Amino acid sequence: MTNPTANPFLQPSALPFELPPFAEIEEAHYLPAFEAGMAGQLAEIAAITANPEAATFENTLVALERTGQLLRRVSLVFFNKVSSDSTPALRELDTEITPRLAAHTDAIQLDPALFARIDAVHARRAELDLDQADLRLLDRWHSRFVRGGARLDDAGQARLRELNAELASLGTTFETNLFAATRAAALVLDTAEELDGLPDGAIAAAAENAKALGHDGRYVLSLKSFSNQTELASLTDAGLRARLLEASLGRGLTENGPLAVRMAELRAERARLLGFPSHAAYEVADQTAGTTDAVESMLGRLVAPAVANADREGAALAASAGVPSVAAADWQYLSERVRKERYEIDGAQMRPYLELESVLHRGVFHAAGLVYGITFHERQDLVAHHPDARVFEVREADGRPLGLYIGDYYARESKRGGAWMTEYVQQSHLLGQLPVVTNDLNIAKPPAGEPALLSWDEVRTLFHEFGHALHGLFSDVRYPSQYMEVPRDFIEYPSQVNEMWQEWPEVLENYARHVETGEPMSPELVARVREAQNFGEGFRTVEQLAATLLDWAWHTTPEGEGAGDAAAFETAALERYGLAHPSIPPRYRTGYFAHVFAGGYYAAGYYGYIWSEVLDADTVEWFKQPGRPVRESGEIFRRTLLSPGGSVDPLTAFAAFRGRAPEIQPLLKRRGLED
Ligand SMILES: [Zn+2]
Repeated sequence: MTNPTANPFLQPSALPFELPPFAEIEEAHYLPAFEAGMAGQLAEIAAITANPEAATFENTLVALERTGQLLRRVSLVFFNKVSSDSTPALRELDTEITPRLAAHTDAIQLDPALFARIDAVHARRAELDLDQADLRLLDRWHSRFVRGGARLDDAGQARLRELNAELASLGTTFETNLFAATRAAALVLDTAEELDGLPDGAIAAAAENAKALGHDGRYVLSLKSFSNQTELASLTDAGLRARLLEASLGRGLTENGPLAVRMAELRAERARLLGFPSHAAYEVADQTAGTTDAVESMLGRLVAPAVANADREGAALAASAGVPSVAAADWQYLSERVRKERYEIDGAQMRPYLELESVLHRGVFHAAGLVYGITFHERQDLVAHHPDARVFEVREADGRPLGLYIGDYYARESKRGGAWMTEYVQQSHLLGQLPVVTNDLNIAKPPAGEPALLSWDEVRTLFHEFGHALHGLFSDVRYPSQYMEVPRDFIEYPSQVNEMWQEWPEVLENYARHVETGEPMSPELVARVREAQNFGEGFRTVEQLAATLLDWAWHTTPEGEGAGDAAAFETAALERYGLAHPSIPPRYRTGYFAHVFAGGYYAAGYYGYIWSEVLDADTVEWFKQPGRPVRESGEIFRRTLLSPGGSVDPLTAFAAFRGRAPEIQPLLKRRGLED
């Protein structure tokens, strides 16, 4: 048994930046800390509602912002750990604790005494002389409560609690199933010859992977989170390519299909209870999009030109191979061949120029220095959540500390697929906290002593996730709940903007250097990379739109018109939207669409990626205006869009930054979708 007084979560960390004391945290600490955290927050809220004084902004809203600090400490560590270094015990606790946390949130948002106080302050908001950030805090809390069911009658609230608890529990089951299904679907191969075409590094990684999984002497291709596995571009064995894609597309469907059907039904019921015709309508009401019509009209503009663009690519691929049409499993392989022929670019030959340390220090960090003046200092004295994760102190141009950045780049069996940013400490002036943010990627770990050589896409992913990290590091808000609190259809915008530095000449020249010779990539190669990138945009847009509209279909279906069978629903939905492309599967199928069904952050929100890209492309154009100094532009972008988090309305902030509302033309141009 653990001595409760020794539970490291019970007091704020004494480490620099309140970095969690990972060396002291044991699995047995989580549950008692969760329980103490939930009980503690309810007691703090009881003290707010028991206050005999009339409700004020200070004694209700600010007081509410101070609650739940222990719960936040343990939650941030726990959920990071579950994603990036889980164990069976942690996954079991996840299954147990997630519905309890959903019930805890309900206990707060359905607390009539607390809502009465917030409502009373909200009703008098015009007289209160609040500044913009305070006013927004009040509006957001009020809306959170109303959207969380505060105005429902007792029966409605009781049903809502049931729905939330079941949804939370289905979400963790979906994730656990997916974890197991992804492992089970990995391909185990006997000989290196079967992997012909893969770069040597990838073959070595497959051998290491096999060793780690108890298949010593064999080769294991583990699945990435998305449909089109990266190896499809280089494996020469067409049969193996077909097996790999089939394993990828089929994973999770049997176990997770019925869960998706059920979750969509429950979400539709919840939306109806809260006064909306569908879950999508409920979700977008709180987003920058506002209405389902706005989303549909935007997506509607993209589908036909994207499919036409992809079909042109497909025809070129078919012609190059002398076949009438391209099988889905061959698309990437033929693309790679055409890229080689047409642009003389070989993905494998680029990797030696894209070594992780160089990309990180001379690329990602260097760009942040050019644009924002910040510097990075590795803190070998600080321990993160896993030995492969590294801690960097980030400082302002004048040396003041800004926060910590933790980079955890390598794939491992205990880490879920994909790439993401999250945090251990959320910045707020109220609590005197600076941010501690993390990036997780799934780059194959090279054998000991060898460099990690990345693909062009992996480099882009690193710049992307680092853009989220900057959003967190630059947060400059008073209240904890305003830290990065932007709508889902806005959250990808800062990270997408940061991708532009991958190709910025001064940055690219600096990091893209041959790992052995130090030679920079030749300007001709760089130019060809840019051209080659446009070839394939049709495919990428179609696979993304297909996933987007699949999510959309699941969550625009009204209550009572349930899907029945997940696979049939999927096929019908893709056909309806004109995206049942024979050679381009959606980027995610239902069985492994974790964005939407594991936790559900992106449920009816996957459209946010392309929606954010409108702002992104418009902003990149601004940065590229001739004569615009990078460092000053970075300062403006940081001040108006990255720092304010939830303290301003995001579209108002964008209009202040750009001098007008966002325009879609730059995105159409970038994606090759102009008329
Ligand atoms: Zn992102």
